[in-house]
Amino acid sequence: MNLFGGIEAGGTKFVCGFGTGPEGLTTARFPTTTPGETLDRVIAFLKKEAGGSLRAVGIGSFGPVDLDRKSATYGYITSTPKPGWANCNLAGAVEQALGVPVGFDTDVNAAALGEAEWGAGQGLSDLLYLTVGTGIGGGAIVGGRVMHGLLHPEMGHIRIPHDAIGDPYPGICPFHRDCLEGLASGPAMQERWGKPAEQLPPDHPAWALEAHYLALAVANFALTLSPQRIILGGGVMQPHLFAPIRAEFLRLLNGYLRQPEGYIVPPKLGGKAGILGALVLAQSSVLR
Ligand code: ZN
Repeated sequence: MNLFGGIEAGGTKFVCGFGTGPEGLTTARFPTTTPGETLDRVIAFLKKEAGGSLRAVGIGSFGPVDLDRKSATYGYITSTPKPGWANCNLAGAVEQALGVPVGFDTDVNAAALGEAEWGAGQGLSDLLYLTVGTGIGGGAIVGGRVMHGLLHPEMGHIRIPHDAIGDPYPGICPFHRDCLEGLASGPAMQERWGKPAEQLPPDHPAWALEAHYLALAVANFALTLSPQRIILGGGVMQPHLFAPIRAEFLRLLNGYLRQPEGYIVPPKLGGKAGILGALVLAQSSVLR
């Protein structure tokens, strides 16, 4: 009973794994189909490969999710538009099938925890992890704890200034049109420019606009949450996008915030921040 399991539950794939940290982590990935089929495969993998050695499992999930321990639907994915997954009792199903304690949080809070434990946020008490990909989401660690609150932060849906003359694209968010996610997510870039972000060359005007929108968001988060570091991950975050975001961030704040060297950085754990964060959730579920 010395291993921890992790599940990174995403809208297109589930990554699961077990271990004690970044070294010797064993992982597998399964496409997200129906809840029944997907969870059967995840549970079968963890049972067969880690079985009796599992002490607890952590889940970082796409959402929205219910994180209120007093709620009857704690551990559920709640109102997702993804077919079949609304009102899915994710934590309950895993706990029942594996018979071990289950830690549960959002995918981005998990990634923030992973980076805090083993990555770019080591030693910091206040940290922001923002992912920019199919959607935009943020996980925050504030005073050493992940931030929940009313629901959990939904940082992708903040409203940012949108100059409709400079950028006539109306936005892709089904709820708000031109919120941050509506203007700056991968699907928004693809619809605006007719190509997926990763196919746009670094000198394409798409990137200056993307840096502007992300810098606006990051400036707002820096001013409201006061994180000691901001980690930007996800498929849209090409390496060449960091320099223009940092420059635009400084321009927007106009010297108002003093921030340390290396304030806006990529995740040190790369694509493994989420699954490693799920391991941290597993560990905390038995230490609680
Ligand atoms: Zn929105």
